[in-house]
This record gives sequence, C-alpha cells and structure tokens, in this order.
Amino acid sequence: MIPYARQSIDEEDIRAVNGVLRSDFLTQGDVVPAFEQAISDFTGAPHCVATSSATAALHAAAASLGLGPGDVLWTSPISFVASANCGLYCGADVDFVDVDARTYTLDVGSLESKLAAAERNGCLPKIVVTVDFAGQPCDVDAIRALRSRYGFRIIEDASHAIGATYRGVRVGDPALADITVFSFHPVKIVTTGEGGAAVTGDASIAEKMRLFRSHGITRDPALMTPGPHDPWEYEQSLLGFNYRLTEIQAALGLTQLARIDGFLSARRAIAARYDRELVGLPLVLPFQAPESVSAFHLYPVCVPDDAPLDRRQLYDALRERGVGTNVHYRPIPSQPYYRARGHSDVALPAARAYYARALSLPMYAGLDEATQMRVVAALRDLLQR
Ligand SMILES: *Cc1c(COP(=O)(O)O)cnc(C)c1O
Repeated sequence: MIPYARQSIDEEDIRAVNGVLRSDFLTQGDVVPAFEQAISDFTGAPHCVATSSATAALHAAAASLGLGPGDVLWTSPISFVASANCGLYCGADVDFVDVDARTYTLDVGSLESKLAAAERNGCLPKIVVTVDFAGQPCDVDAIRALRSRYGFRIIEDASHAIGATYRGVRVGDPALADITVFSFHPVKIVTTGEGGAAVTGDASIAEKMRLFRSHGITRDPALMTPGPHDPWEYEQSLLGFNYRLTEIQAALGLTQLARIDGFLSARRAIAARYDRELVGLPLVLPFQAPESVSAFHLYPVCVPDDAPLDRRQLYDALRERGVGTNVHYRPIPSQPYYRARGHSDVALPAARAYYARALSLPMYAGLDEATQMRVVAALRDLLQR
C-alpha cells in the first residue's frame, strides 16, 4: 500500500541518534539547544523553545500569552484537534471561524464579521490560532490588520508549514505572528519521532514558554527570587509541565533539518507533477495563493458532486488499487467532545463543503516519480469519463 505520508530516514539520522545513545546525556544536554538554534537560523526567529510535541508547544504558547478562564481562543475548524484543544487546556473557551473555500485556511471576511459582532457583544478573542493548512500560509497581512484593530494575539499553527513563505518571508519569522508552532511528527516535513517547537520574537514570551516546558522550574539565579541561593537550589515560579524534547529526538531533528531544502523541493516537485498530471480529471486541485509558497505537507483534492465516484467510493477504490489516502480534517466542532460542549459546524458552510469532498493524496519527500505515477494512473482509471 502506498501510504499517504511517511518519514525519510537516512544513515546520517541513524548515526546521529546512535551518537546520543553513546553519550552522557539522553535529556537536558546541549543537543536540544543546538536544535533550537538551528530552527532559529532556518526560520529567522530569534527565540525557539523545542517541546515534546506541537500540541505541547501550542499549550505553552497559549498559556504564555496569558490565556485563562474567561478568555476566548478562535481557530479554524479544518485542522487537527490540537489547534483548538490548547484553548481548553488553559480553561478558556474556544470558537471557530469558517475557512476560505479555495485555500481552506481561515477566511478573512468571516473573521472580520465575527470580530465586529464579538466587539459589540464584549467577547473578543484573546488569541486567534491561524492554521497554515496543507503547508500554505494564511492571509497574514489581512489578519495582522485585524490584530491591530481588535487587539488579539496570533499563534500561527505551522505544523504543516516549516519552510513555507509568505511574500518572501519564511514562516516562523516574527513579522508574521506572535508565536509560531511547528510539529515534528513523522508525517510532517521534518521529524523527531514526536516533537515540536514554538518560535517567537519576544524574549519574555520565550522565557515563559521555557519555564512552562519544564514544570515552571529554573536554576537561573536571574529568574529566581532575590538570593543568596545554595548551589543545588532550583525554584518553581509557575505551574508548568514536562514538555521537554529528548536529546535523542533533537539529534534526529538536527540531521533532518539539515536536509529540509531537499525535502521541500521534493514535495514541491510532487505537487507540481500532480498539478500537471491530474488536470482535466473531475477533481478540484489545491489552489495556491500567489503571495505564498507552500511547504506541501498535504496535497488535498476535492471530489466534485458530478464526478463518476463520490469521495468514499474513490477512497475505497484507491485502497483496492494499493493507494492509501486520508481525509484532513473532520471539522473540529463536529467532534463528539466539542458537540457535547455545545459546538457545531452548522454555521461553517465552507468547512462542511470541504470535509464532504476532501481526500489527501500520497505526499512525502520519498515518493518517487514511478510510485506517484501509479497514483495518477489509478485516479485516471477511476475518474476519466
Ligand atoms: C500534527 C498537527 C498538530 C499536532 O502536532 P503533534 O506534534 O502531533 O502534537 C497540531 N496542529 C496541526 C495543524 C497538525 O497538523
């Protein structure tokens, strides 16, 4: 079965992981800071906090922006549940803004009207989590203009989008968001097994996230109550978690990040080949906004209502031909947990329309041309009229 996604591991990765296993430190050594520095160098973000997952990074980010009970966090319904769950972890309420019918990222018109209504009702969000869906950045300029007008903070969930650019600026650059979060799960662009990171241009937010990642504990005298302190002392100043990345994971992340340019160009070449080879079939291919360059974590197509097979039939028929696909994502507010909290996707027509028809085709750096052409041939066979 051709998978919809998979990691690319080479001998260099294996050597790096082995090297850590033979060293003195499996956690809290100097490989994690080196990985954080490499992410900073790559993204242009001055501060980076590596975490055990992007979910942990989102939690640390929301908490460090002061989100708490009585506050509200908004995000996209077409995302992984973690984009919304981080608000609930902080005791805040969550709400959803519909997506753009072409890019499937937050729809700026819907955001604007929802903000205007929220201002009238005195319930403006403290944080908007933007999601760079499939690897394509959101309409950052428009969202930043709304941030100036309404005073929310932006957490950019760039779990799909390390290496993407918006108007020539790399995702992670503090010009684009208050905090940007990356995921290093094996299906994403680069992997550490499990892992994530939050980057920011704000040193004090970075310091809070660093504390939050490690129980709220520090040994840095500059961050402790006025001394003197005994040499073994540490202090807990806030309620944090153990969200640390291990040295083993960071070593893998470093060798993976060293190959990111190759991963990105492979993904972009695969997307360009799908674009060329699938044209003319009854499929809605992913729209690329001219101002951004996607990292192509996903290649989501939509099966229109007049296609010879519907989405479910196409999913099943592709599986029978050895082609694995997936659907990203069921609208978060339609999940049973969210429904039980009173949420629904009824007022999110673009999200519902997308979810009814979407299918993510195989997309990963190691997908070679011959294998990709088997996917194309299966689609032609099934859809050509
Ligand atoms: C994968 C993903 C996450 C969660 O990442 P983990 O590293 O698995 O915690 C969050 N948001 C989005 C959009 C994702 O795709």
